[in-house]
Amino acid sequence: MPRSPEYVDLFNDSILKTVRKAVSVTRWNPQQFAFFVRAALHQRSAARRRAAWSGRGVHVPPMMIASITRRCNLNCGGCYAMGQRREERPELPVERWREILSEADGLGVSIVLVAGGEPFTRPSFMSLTAEFKRVLFPVFTNGLLMTPETVRTLRRRRNLIPVFSLEGGSRTTDSRRGEGVSVRVNRAMKSLSDAGVFYGTSITITAENHDEVTDPEFIRPLVAGGCRLFFYVEYIPVEEGTEDKVLTENQKAGLEPLTQSLRNRFNADFIAFPGDEERYGGCLAAGRGFIHVGPDGSLEPCPFAPYTDVNLSVVSLKDALASDFLRSIRDNHDALTETRGGCALWTNREWVRSLLPAPEKSAAPSPVPGSGFRVPS
Ligand code: SF4
Repeated sequence: MPRSPEYVDLFNDSILKTVRKAVSVTRWNPQQFAFFVRAALHQRSAARRRAAWSGRGVHVPPMMIASITRRCNLNCGGCYAMGQRREERPELPVERWREILSEADGLGVSIVLVAGGEPFTRPSFMSLTAEFKRVLFPVFTNGLLMTPETVRTLRRRRNLIPVFSLEGGSRTTDSRRGEGVSVRVNRAMKSLSDAGVFYGTSITITAENHDEVTDPEFIRPLVAGGCRLFFYVEYIPVEEGTEDKVLTENQKAGLEPLTQSLRNRFNADFIAFPGDEERYGGCLAAGRGFIHVGPDGSLEPCPFAPYTDVNLSVVSLKDALASDFLRSIRDNHDALTETRGGCALWTNREWVRSLLPAPEKSAAPSPVPGSGFRVPS
């Protein structure tokens, strides 16, 4: 069996390290602890499945970002998902998602990040996850649809991991998401904590809110309340003229050591996204480390690069991963070393679009003036 590229082992190790960190931060909760011990074993066996497929010439990423809907019960300023001028195509039906998840699980995709829109507007998709117990489903949610029934479901279904979106403290969060949203998110977090459910938060980190959201005074009450996972997602200047929101060079360079010092200080894990992709030889999109599925089934390199030449509504995942468009991005990943602005594909979007076959090129959504990028939901 040919040896897999070095970055593959490195990325597998960092995924395993993250799951093991979850084992350590849940040591006081036997159910959560036992779940993550099993999850670590599932991650290892999934890595072996991927290696086996790699031996057969099929490159399988460990992660899939599944944007399952554009529907949302909020209307946040600068919402990327709402700002994209995607053709109005029907959402992938749940039956087709079942087939895709089954194939993904068989290939060794072991983490499916569920995004939207607001994912909890599709409870039928959430029910599906019960059939894929060895796959982890972090769900990026605005937290406003967290009913007592949902809490009971999450208590039973530990592979569904709610990740609440915050912008910072209550004033910063409400200023973007709407008056009173932060109070409702805190209430949702408390209901999960009381029910013994593992959850996290996702924060779009900008030059503006960097100090606020990395301040121990902001983090401490969240950890004390039960939050065990923090995603810092770098702001991508999709909207012309918002480049000043992008992390400064110093903030960017300091993010990895900062998350490490927070990991040492708090009983939680802290992950920068996309983080230091250069340690993996450049951008992990287009299937190198992860792949993105749009609401209509379009298989895309990344949420920040909504371009595609293949759709999972009619093509198997295995065949779609081998698409010419995705392969040409993977084959040129070392050209995609990250520059200021957190996303190499976004920064090189004209080159990415130039790789599309003619019909798709004309259909490709163009960047939308007036909509910034912040993590949907
Ligand atoms: S950012 Fe999220 S919660 Fe806000 S409108 Fe967009 S999808 Fe909805």
